[in-house]
Amino acid sequence: MKFTESLSDTIPPQKVEEIMASIERSEKIVITTHLSPDGDALGSSLALYHYLKNRGLNARIIVPNSFPNFLKWMKGANEIDIYEYNPAAAKHILSNADLIFCLDYNISKRVGDMGTALETSTAKKILIDHHLSPGEDFDVIVSHPGISSTSELIFRLLFQAGKYETLTRAEAECIYCGMMTDTGGFTYNSSDPEIFEIISLLLRKNVDKDAIYSQVFHNYSADRFRLLGFTLSQRMEVYPELHSALIHLTREDQAPFRFSKGDTEGFVNYPLSIKNIIFSTFIREDEGVIKLSFRSQKSFPCNEFAAEFFNGGGHLNASGGEFYGTYQEALNTYSRGLKKYEEKLKEANKEL
Ligand code: 5GP
Ligand code: MN
Repeated sequence: MKFTESLSDTIPPQKVEEIMASIERSEKIVITTHLSPDGDALGSSLALYHYLKNRGLNARIIVPNSFPNFLKWMKGANEIDIYEYNPAAAKHILSNADLIFCLDYNISKRVGDMGTALETSTAKKILIDHHLSPGEDFDVIVSHPGISSTSELIFRLLFQAGKYETLTRAEAECIYCGMMTDTGGFTYNSSDPEIFEIISLLLRKNVDKDAIYSQVFHNYSADRFRLLGFTLSQRMEVYPELHSALIHLTREDQAPFRFSKGDTEGFVNYPLSIKNIIFSTFIREDEGVIKLSFRSQKSFPCNEFAAEFFNGGGHLNASGGEFYGTYQEALNTYSRGLKKYEEKLKEANKEL
């Protein structure tokens, strides 16, 4: 195991110690994630869940709402409780917990309606996350915006605590899935050489990385593909002078394609493949809310854009937000935002 010496102690060692000690002291542990949990939220939660279960501890995962089918292959995914399906039961579990992990989100607003139950629980709360600006209502904060994914942080936590030898294949698969999905298959946010040392360590646990890639990215319905074709050919605007592109879908647009959760995951990445486009936006009308996804290249801060105009946030190059108003108002707000960010768009384009 010549690599096992070479990873940095990214998480301050006293925090690793405190977290491991809290785990040992707790009888009821709950792991929570953000709304619409993605591969990283679920991968990090399930990896930690398996670690806790393997130690004979009482642990469960509660997520605010459901998640797409292409993430259901992960071991333990069918044991996850979904708050939205039974809020009373979930509230009960949260209020009786003595330790709550908050994974892959920075503030309790990101868990939607589940936030109140989380805030009122007297459990010790441990945040492990890689988004900017963590909130203050946590007892332990492990926040590393420079790290690829929360799943990588869970790996580092277990590794630093000396648990690599006993890491199971299932834990390694969940961690790999989270790291892979949050970096677009290691195409962004993944230049740190230690990421590949970690991958090497995961492969040594017999993770089949190609099978995981297929489970996640080759698992779509024909309808989803037709919807992608429709979106790119009929609902894409390109603004070459502003190095930006927009794709957008109303509910009416989605209906003929029997839209199901996760179908539009990844759509926002496509316009970035157009030459000289550094900022891509996807506006999608959902039930009672308009959801926005942003992706950018180089220094263009799409999280600032999301925060300023769409009540959102996220990472420098991948962010999201929401809009409560009409579809047309959302489009107008986007146009206004583009004009305001014209200089930054042009500056960032020069870095290409
Ligand atoms: P996606 O476009 O994949 O839904 O989200 C990309 C990233 O944007 C997420 O990892 C998350 O950090 C952030 N994000 C997405 N939606 C929201 C939102 O409504 N509010 C905030 N603050 N961040 C969001
Ligand atoms: Mn993440």
